[in-house]
Amino acid sequence: MKKCIYRPCSTNRITQYFLENAACVTKYGKIVACRPGLESFYKSVGMNSHGAIDFALWHGEHLYFPVDLGIRWWVDKIGHPDERGLMLSVISDEKMVVVRDNEKVRDIRKPRDGETGEYIKFVFGHLMETPYRDGETIRFGQYLGRGDNTGFSTGDHCHMGFKECDKNGDGLNLNNGWYGNLNYEPLFENRYIVDVDENIAEMKLTLKDLRKKLLKLLEIQVIKLVESVKGRL
Ligand SMILES: [Zn+2]
Repeated sequence: MKKCIYRPCSTNRITQYFLENAACVTKYGKIVACRPGLESFYKSVGMNSHGAIDFALWHGEHLYFPVDLGIRWWVDKIGHPDERGLMLSVISDEKMVVVRDNEKVRDIRKPRDGETGEYIKFVFGHLMETPYRDGETIRFGQYLGRGDNTGFSTGDHCHMGFKECDKNGDGLNLNNGWYGNLNYEPLFENRYIVDVDENIAEMKLTLKDLRKKLLKLLEIQVIKLVESVKGRL
């Protein structure tokens, strides 16, 4: 079992894991942090508990697609004004085998002989904006969009969930107690994706290098300018 799912954001504060019940609903239907006497929001909508990981964000924080499975993905952009706000689903372009004990995921891998597998998707909820149009492709490490507090949410965060789905991205096993959500925590490593993706790390180095060269060029130009002004005085 290889870890292949990382943190999509720079902020390192996870506010809720799978199986927790941190969000409650008041009798007026407002979503708030739980306190005694209030009903769990998840139970109020027929789920056993939270079925994803919640990553706290600063307002507008950039998010990157953090799942490294060596496959192609495409996006489906959906607005749920009263639920997950602006949500981006990232759906696999090929079927995968999700090895699991009930809702707990042990491995996600390509099918071997005889196996068929299912399409899979990761969802990113409560977003501010995303540059994608429906059907566009995306790959590991690529920019996803910016986080916010849209939909049912008590503060800026990204809700990152995982399900098996059909070819169109519609979830399977919707009666599993988590509306089809599966617990990917065994495959999750709490490391910022930008520090993981070697291409991005390499790009950062190249940028640093270019910046240095640009500054050097500017410095030369300024010196030349000063010299020429001096010459005229
Ligand atoms: Zn959540």
